[in-house]
Amino acid sequence: MAATDIEKIVSLSKRRGFIFQSSAIYGKLNACYDYGPLGVEMKRNIKDIWWKSMVQEREDIVGLDAAILMHPRVWEASGHVSGFTDPLVDCRHCKQRFREDEIDEKFLEKRQCPRCGTVGSLTEARQFNLMFKTHMGPVEENASVVYLRPETAQGIYVNFKNVIDSSRMKIPFGIAQIGKAFRNEITPGNFIFRTREFEQAEMQFFVKPGEDEKFFEMWKEIRINWYSRLGIKKENLRFHQHGKDELAHYAKAAFDIEYKYPIGWKELEGIHNRTDFDLSKHQEFSNKDLSYFDDKTRERFIPYVIETSCGIDRILLTCLVDGYEEEKLENETRTVLRLDPKIAPVKAAIFPLVKKDGMPEYARKIEKDLRKSFMVFYDETGAVGRRYRRQDEAGTPFCITVDSQTLEDDTVTIRERDSMQQIRIPANGVRDELRKRIWE
Ligand code: ATP
Repeated sequence: MAATDIEKIVSLSKRRGFIFQSSAIYGKLNACYDYGPLGVEMKRNIKDIWWKSMVQEREDIVGLDAAILMHPRVWEASGHVSGFTDPLVDCRHCKQRFREDEIDEKFLEKRQCPRCGTVGSLTEARQFNLMFKTHMGPVEENASVVYLRPETAQGIYVNFKNVIDSSRMKIPFGIAQIGKAFRNEITPGNFIFRTREFEQAEMQFFVKPGEDEKFFEMWKEIRINWYSRLGIKKENLRFHQHGKDELAHYAKAAFDIEYKYPIGWKELEGIHNRTDFDLSKHQEFSNKDLSYFDDKTRERFIPYVIETSCGIDRILLTCLVDGYEEEKLENETRTVLRLDPKIAPVKAAIFPLVKKDGMPEYARKIEKDLRKSFMVFYDETGAVGRRYRRQDEAGTPFCITVDSQTLEDDTVTIRERDSMQQIRIPANGVRDELRKRIWE
């Protein structure tokens, strides 16, 4: 679906209650978004799958939920206070603002604005810190400055010792966390691709120095394969290796998993070999020993860290883009979101074919029963064909219809979204059938 433009996804998201612009009734807050009834379900499903595969299914990773506000020294140690900056340039002519590192060389040479084309109109770059600042307590003075975290990883580093002492994890092991991050991005945009408030899912895997390259390769493979669990097409994913000029100062190696968005190949997730940079810095700034003692080899060392870092919002956008299709049928075009059933917000819709003869009551009973296990939706309004279309567009993988035959033999039809095929099954077998089709 290379031709899908992001605008179609924006419009579908608003129309069907996936994603709304923040504070729209007040004229919106730029680059902030709210998740509606369908979006919030989908986001939870994505987070659950990440957590299940990164924490629940692995004995070598444990979870964490650190506070968003942290001691300001954390951000000095991490380098964010001095280094978390983007070079910012403005066009004097059209007033558009850009990140200098995102402007094509051919424009930069002539200081030409990539938007309005005016030659010589770009200002010199200014460094701009991306961290949001606020104050703790009633007095707004320098001593009370705190930051909204720009990444979740630091919460993991500062708890490294706590986790070791309390859980007896032995290297190699990881700590995983999902949580909000905030960046005062200069060039947000492309819907939820780059926002100022977003959610990250990060995992820091602590390893013995010298074993870092082996684990780096292992995590690259695990993470790129993970996306097929969400149903994302393999051909739309690739690795991009950071060249020397792109590599963060602390990183030994970095690969992005990129997705082929309508706006081109862009980063979806980063996998970084951060060496012992972070723990060493925190040891230095906090004056606390953050080394690890390996009781088998009797060695003491600062572990290396392999990081996997992705944005939940960006994954959600990727799933919408990857699943969106305007499918040509004989007499019409249907919009269908081919979401993997595991991430679909609503797993099944239940319809009475008509609003009489006891069909609604029968369908309501099925709905009530299914609600204990799945998110389901009941709909009795309009022609059944239109109801199917509405569910196709919302990504609902299955529709259960109660018709006159149901009243005779207690069977219902189950229609599958992608193939539109229907089969008839006993009404009391619907729950097992759905469970099988969603989870197996
Ligand atoms: P960029 O260079 O594009 O600003 P980054 O390399 O700084 O991004 P990371 O710090 O590696 O990004 O963040 C890890 C992941 O968090 C990204 O792969 C992306 O999925 C997500 N992410 C980062 N910034 C944003 C944002 N502003 N909005 C939404 N998701 C984001």
